[in-house]
Amino acid sequence: MAPSLHPSLDNGITPGSPSFSGGKLHCLCSSSPVEVTLTSNVAHNHACGCSKCWKPSGALFSIVGVVPKANLSVTANEDKLAIVDENAAIQRFACKECGTHLYGRIKNEHPFHGLDFVHTELSDEKGWQEPQFAAFVSSIIEQGFDPSKMDEVRGKFESLGLETYDSLSPALMDAIATWTAKKNGKL
Ligand SMILES: [Zn+2]
Ligand SMILES: [Zn+2]
Repeated sequence: MAPSLHPSLDNGITPGSPSFSGGKLHCLCSSSPVEVTLTSNVAHNHACGCSKCWKPSGALFSIVGVVPKANLSVTANEDKLAIVDENAAIQRFACKECGTHLYGRIKNEHPFHGLDFVHTELSDEKGWQEPQFAAFVSSIIEQGFDPSKMDEVRGKFESLGLETYDSLSPALMDAIATWTAKKNGKL
């Protein structure tokens, strides 16, 4: 049986709507769920194989995108949120009861400062940008995935039309390098 990448990838990708203008995310608690409201669609939505992103149970990858932090607000049960790791560059706010990550916020000076990371699968609404690429694919091996099955994983992404990278996408890596060059006076 082919490994499950993520529920929103395993049966093909549903394209998002360019006119979609946001919606609500909620954690997986059956009562009093934390609710986050986004006033825009996400950008750079992608599959991520790193060990830090929240993944639904059984999935090898997370699906994570970004919104400007001004477009995100916690609109219910904020008292259930806690920061997963205070020392991480991205402060991931998770529900203390169900463990779901509602959003990740960049804490300090960072190329992606001002952006929040979110998982649109936590929304019932349709129209969110579909995944654009797969990042940190080799990282799943570090979490115990059988390296001999990596061709299968990369092949599945390829069949979905998604490029696989072992870092972020070239566009995002270029953005990070540009930020670093400007910071150091090289640009
Ligand atoms: Zn919860
Ligand atoms: Zn990740």
